[in-house]
Amino acid sequence: MIDKLHIDALAGILGDKGVVTRPEDLEAYETGARYDRGRTSLVLRPATTEEVSAVVAYCVTSGIALIPQSGNTGLVSGSTPDPSGDEAVLSLDRLAKRFELDLDNRSVRLDAGFRLSDLNRKLEEHGLFFPIDLGADPRIGGMIATNTGGSRFLKYGDVRRNTLGLKVVLADADGTVLDLQCDLRKNNTGVDWKQIFVGTSGAFGIVTECVLNLERLPQQTATALLVPASGAHVLPLLRAMEERLGAYLSAFEGMSKNAVTAAFAHVPSLKNPFQAGQVPDYVILAEISRTWAPREGEQSLDAVLESALAEIWEMEEAPLADAFVGPPHEIWALRHALSEGVKHLGKLIAFDVSFRRGDIMAFCDHMKAEMPSKFPDVTVCDFGHIGDGGVHFNLVVPKDSDLLKDETFEPRLREWVFAVAVEEYHGSFSAEHAIGRRNQAYYDLYTPDKLKDMAAGLKTLTSPAKLGSVRFG
Ligand SMILES: Cc1cc2nc3c(=O)[nH]c(=O)nc-3n(C[C@H](O)[C@H](O)[C@H](O)COP(=O)(O)OP(=O)(O)OC[C@H]3O[C@@H](n4cnc5c(N)ncnc54)[C@H](O)[C@@H]3O)c2cc1C
Repeated sequence: MIDKLHIDALAGILGDKGVVTRPEDLEAYETGARYDRGRTSLVLRPATTEEVSAVVAYCVTSGIALIPQSGNTGLVSGSTPDPSGDEAVLSLDRLAKRFELDLDNRSVRLDAGFRLSDLNRKLEEHGLFFPIDLGADPRIGGMIATNTGGSRFLKYGDVRRNTLGLKVVLADADGTVLDLQCDLRKNNTGVDWKQIFVGTSGAFGIVTECVLNLERLPQQTATALLVPASGAHVLPLLRAMEERLGAYLSAFEGMSKNAVTAAFAHVPSLKNPFQAGQVPDYVILAEISRTWAPREGEQSLDAVLESALAEIWEMEEAPLADAFVGPPHEIWALRHALSEGVKHLGKLIAFDVSFRRGDIMAFCDHMKAEMPSKFPDVTVCDFGHIGDGGVHFNLVVPKDSDLLKDETFEPRLREWVFAVAVEEYHGSFSAEHAIGRRNQAYYDLYTPDKLKDMAAGLKTLTSPAKLGSVRFG
């Protein structure tokens, strides 16, 4: 537990608004988006970089460990305190004042506590957006710390690709403020230090401000549900789309039959376009977009998509068996219902893995073939960002299954899935959710000692005190 003396001193620095101690107010900060529930007696809510620096300096010299928290939507138990009650949560949720838009540079300097939705709302009137798209509403600092990917990675890349600069507070005795803000897209003048703070879960410093690249908001979008001729045709279909649609292609999402069926069952209002409602083994959501309003005499985007699909249809060994072009909101509604649908089937055990694009379907087929003999009762409900090699390899166990009474079941299952993904298919055990307490053991297992030593050196250089939930060294 954190001593009352310290709590009073920190309240002196931040004022009443900046300190939360009532148990009923602490609960939201102790509870993660999906799995975790920790314990704390103190949440600190600084409103400026200077306040972050002051409380970090105090906590470091007093030996109080801090867990940075932004939107608390992370999925790897990184943003919540452990069960000991000894860690304080450093919430960045009040850090949302500074917002300086540079239209010429197509960039924005802002405080890291802005919600993604609030940022995009402010940008919309300028025809711009921050092009990371996902089914949650995180805050920007958390997105930088986890290097969020999302559904439009194929076109716009991840947060790393769209971060121009940062300001961070280091966990040292001075709460040193490191200003790495930079509005330049090209800058080869030395080590690009900002990169060590992207995707490293806050272990090396607390992101308090940043400069982000912005993109033009699409004015036209066309979407389709595509049925590949077989699993082996998914990649040929993607390559055929890339060849014909180039930079227009903004999403290519894969959805397994089990995941789609679960979504239809959970959200009956979803439109089922398939013949007699029969869901195919695998479905692709493809999206194309462009940034200008429809022009007179120009082929509509739906027509562009339809003619590309017609050409693919005519290919020798056509990779496409069927296609349904439809309104984007209807088609994306199905994609966005997958997570909830799958969760309703039973206990969800989720994996966020990635592969070379050509290995995704082979990995999924391999696991589906072996699952019944290894773990009967487990259903594979995979879906994912095929265009960038990411798969949400979701496994569901009925709530009344005997497997759930066996304490060794989940660790054995995780060990097997990661061993096949990493050792046989040379994939990643964390594609876009970063490392948290949930992935620590796999970081320890799969990271070479030399890289752990280098990370430990960086930690000593930047934030020698305990910060966040991850150990890289
Ligand atoms: C329904 C749903 C859908 C999702 N879909 C996707 C998806 O498609 N793609 C994807 O990549 N992710 C997805 N996620 C995961 C999650 O939304 C992202 O990881 C997100 O970027 C986390 O941001 P956050 O603000 O919620 O961070 P938090 O959850 O608060 O924190 C995440 C980590 O960053 C650290 N941290 C937080 N703020 C800071 C800071 N300012 N400085 C330093 N460290 C900090 C925390 O200690 C923690 O380790 C999804 C989550 C949900 C619930």
